[in-house]
Amino acid sequence: METTDADRHLDGNAAGGMLAEVFRFEATTVIVTCAGCGAAGPMAELLLYGHGMGQILRCAGCDTAVVRVARVRDRHWLDLRGARSLQIGGGQ
Ligand SMILES: [Zn+2]
Repeated sequence: METTDADRHLDGNAAGGMLAEVFRFEATTVIVTCAGCGAAGPMAELLLYGHGMGQILRCAGCDTAVVRVARVRDRHWLDLRGARSLQIGGGQ
């Protein structure tokens, strides 16, 4: 019987080790690529718009909401749909 890619998967717990390596960083130094215009630069160069429960970081070039973060009671919500990619580490 042939094995397909769909047969070769584990649940997300199997990625725990690598995810623990990735989600341990100083966020302002991460290089973020805007999904709107493709511009890349340190997250610290995005423009901050704050409101009651959270913050929105927008691209200075095209105004795309690149990062949205909110705190609701004891949980944080992170929306990265405006980021095409994050480059983490590498001694930036
Ligand atoms: Zn942009």
